[in-house]
Amino acid sequence: MKNYTVAINKYTKYDENLTNLLFEQMKAAGVSKEMLDNKKIAIKPNLVISKKPEAAATTHPVFLKSAISALKMFGAENTTLIVAESAGGPYTTATIKNHYSVCGIDESCGAPLNYSTDAQIVMFPEGETCKRFNVISPIAEADVILNVCKLKTHSLTKISCAQKNYFGIIPGIEKFEMHAAYSDQKDFRRMLCDLSEMLRKSKTLINVCDGILGMEGNGPTGGTPRKFDVVLTSLSPYCLDLAAEKILGFEGTAPMVTLAKEKGLCPDSADKLNIVGDKIDELVINDVVAPDAQRKTFLSELHGLFGGKVANFFSPKPYINSNKCVGCGECVRSCPMHTIELVEKNGKKQAKINRNKCILCYCCQELCPLVAVDVKQNILIRLVH
Ligand code: SF4
Ligand code: SF4
Repeated sequence: MKNYTVAINKYTKYDENLTNLLFEQMKAAGVSKEMLDNKKIAIKPNLVISKKPEAAATTHPVFLKSAISALKMFGAENTTLIVAESAGGPYTTATIKNHYSVCGIDESCGAPLNYSTDAQIVMFPEGETCKRFNVISPIAEADVILNVCKLKTHSLTKISCAQKNYFGIIPGIEKFEMHAAYSDQKDFRRMLCDLSEMLRKSKTLINVCDGILGMEGNGPTGGTPRKFDVVLTSLSPYCLDLAAEKILGFEGTAPMVTLAKEKGLCPDSADKLNIVGDKIDELVINDVVAPDAQRKTFLSELHGLFGGKVANFFSPKPYINSNKCVGCGECVRSCPMHTIELVEKNGKKQAKINRNKCILCYCCQELCPLVAVDVKQNILIRLVH
């Protein structure tokens, strides 16, 4: 029988009582000592970009420490623990160190931090879209993954929560290559689902979500911090995302949740989840700002009528905000299609996008440290609305 349990609680602070809450949530979700005994456990936070915890782009250090402490409360024997994450840019020891440092993560979190850049191929013959993944070694070798994700909006997938956090097990800039290889957004989502399934079928997944201070607007890195005041735990990344989608007021609209439903990986409605803790209906926030790239309008939906042929024309596109751009080149390095260049404009360097090759992955927006990439609707849609 499928485990559709999601433990959900209203929680407003990063404080010392969070450990007990997470321990109770893990127990309710089905975690046991036997599940952890003699296991290699990898802890996967979301450290997508080097930003301080108050920017709400990354897992809060107190939340990470609390999740690790909660796991230790099970008293499992003969375990090994390691924190491992591959952020958005190059995967080098220097960049890993920088991410930990800026994001406020150190070994006081309760587990050693990974600094190795080793990765290994993991085959997944059952994958619908992708049957072979290169995965950072601490994750590939783990028996159990403690997925300590962050509750945010996301330009490409509308929400970033449990499933999306697993993309950070692909080493560094190989993530851009995967964006290029799966340039159709539907294919990209199927690939991400294959990645989660590869993990779910070979390991125990414990998904905990830091939704205390989350992000709305142009997440996962350039949005606005917003208190969601919620903590979630589930053994199923799909059920956790289904609950998170409802809490953010996006029910039925986050494409990766829709895909999980279609594949029978979670129920077709959050109402069918086995919710433990607080009532989900009382935690729903109805005014969370969606990413600009995900704002659906009457005209932007029309592309479905043309078999997708004019989808690109009507889709929201990235624009460089010349008032903010300092020509650092981060977007040039992160664009999977190599369609951004630095040009001289008014005596200073600025990024310029060649939109003909753009696949609308929004990596440029995600990795711009100065939030200088805007996403705008097609001019016709803007005029109509
Ligand atoms: S858009 Fe952002 S990432 Fe790109 S060059 Fe300008 S400041 Fe740097
Ligand atoms: S320009 Fe931006 S949205 Fe377009 S392909 Fe490059 S990174 Fe992706």
